[in-house]
Amino acid sequence: MKDIRKILIANRGEIAGAIITAAAAMGIRTVAVYERPDSGAPWLDLADSRVFIGNGPVRDYLDIEKIIRVARLSGADAVHPGYGFLSENPEFAEACRSAGLIFIGPPPRVLQALGNKAAAKRIAQKAGIPCIPGTGNLVPDGDAVARISGFAFHHGYPVMLKASYGGGGRGIRKINDITQLEAELHHAAKEARRCFSDDSIYAEKYIESPRHIEVQVFADNYGNVIHLGSRDCSIQRRHQKLVQSAPALLDPAALEKMQQAAVRMAQAAGYAGAGTVEFLVDRHTGEFWFMEVNARLQVEHTVTEMITGRDLIKKQIMAARGEPLGIDQQDICFKGQSIQVRINAEDPYNNFRPEGGKTIEALRIPTGSGIRVDSGIRQGSRIPMEYDSCLAKLNVWGRDWPEAVARLRNSLDDFVIAGPRTTIPFYRAICGEPDFIRGVFDTSYIETHPAIFEHREGIRPVRACAG
Ligand code: ADP
Ligand code: ADP
Ligand code: MG
Repeated sequence: MKDIRKILIANRGEIAGAIITAAAAMGIRTVAVYERPDSGAPWLDLADSRVFIGNGPVRDYLDIEKIIRVARLSGADAVHPGYGFLSENPEFAEACRSAGLIFIGPPPRVLQALGNKAAAKRIAQKAGIPCIPGTGNLVPDGDAVARISGFAFHHGYPVMLKASYGGGGRGIRKINDITQLEAELHHAAKEARRCFSDDSIYAEKYIESPRHIEVQVFADNYGNVIHLGSRDCSIQRRHQKLVQSAPALLDPAALEKMQQAAVRMAQAAGYAGAGTVEFLVDRHTGEFWFMEVNARLQVEHTVTEMITGRDLIKKQIMAARGEPLGIDQQDICFKGQSIQVRINAEDPYNNFRPEGGKTIEALRIPTGSGIRVDSGIRQGSRIPMEYDSCLAKLNVWGRDWPEAVARLRNSLDDFVIAGPRTTIPFYRAICGEPDFIRGVFDTSYIETHPAIFEHREGIRPVRACAG
């Protein structure tokens, strides 16, 4: 077994804080790195040491050579990449390995195999897992237009264009008919090139108002794979998640099938560490199709922690040390219902426009039993414009769906962030909406429930903020 005494965290925000806390609980020291816009950020105080890596924005967090150099100079023996940034980059995982550092995540060959979403679908197909019908990887040229229109001839419009190396909802475009195809292909490829430095595209059958249901999997380095249940992440804007709950409210037999499929997928990919297998599910029939694997920790992993009582970051560190899983599927028990909302610095009443650049003038974070807030902010801090708009994650637990919703509503009432507009009032409106209260929603929820945008709240008066 390998020893891990000091971890460098190659990430920022709430996830950096969560990794530092988990490592500290295991008696492991931490090194945080930061770019100029994150100077003074609260997670830097939690770490045992911090290293300034440049003005950024973003490019220093993505600078593989620099991060490895800092890790070695600071005496770290492992690197945790968090999510986003370098977390799914096989070159980074390989560079860590060559430098004698433990990369806390799947091995480079797995990141390589699953990073291309069209290629990952082929692995799923071979493992007998139903996939959304689609094309393979396409170079966005005239030939691709012919291929996609041929695909649409068989499967019908609308068709979804997706970046092969996509993530975070970017590079996805819906095409309603052939007249939009060429222009949209051009836009999708351009976005893919900008965000993922690769313009490969694939096309998929458009599933009408599906549910997004995913399964958390976990594997050790010796081929033992378990799942930690499901999450429903259907409530999204711009194909990115806003509300995530665990477990998904779905017929138990259907859910079990998906969980088994997820485990098969992890086995087929030779997976190691924490990962998520994402599916789209027909909201009427329960039929499901594999969509992609996120070979990393996810923002919403905490809702799984709340219903299983398992700390996924600790498990990641243990797996990276080479410890065998040591538990079976039967050892994982599920209890109650949890819900997470992403508190973003965005104006929900203006198309979720980012509100970066503003200062947090007052902050009150709800506390209490069944409430967990992971945050990357504090009173007086300026929200950088340069990064993701997520300020904090509010996670609540209840014995069942109604209790979890009630706790969510109360926690949102107690949550105060003054300065930037946030998604808090929008979630409060959702908590009063009958379909959400019943637990019935799909990926078209926001478009099909315009009433949640009607009761705008002004800036709430701030009372007795403890900070
Ligand atoms: P990303 O890698 O950006 O997370 P995904 O492939 O996971 O992209 O898709 C993100 C979201 O986009 C899904 O949760 C779903 O809402 C929507 N989506 C993706 N593919 C389809 C599809 N074929 N039909 C309908 N919606 C889709
Ligand atoms: P999902 O991609 O399914 O939305 P998460 O909800 O865990 O997964 O998102 C993790 C974070 O990382 C989000 O802030 C998202 O914008 C970002 N992210 C995910 N994939 C990528 C990627 N390939 N490149 C850049 N950022 C990404
Ligand atoms: Mg996804």
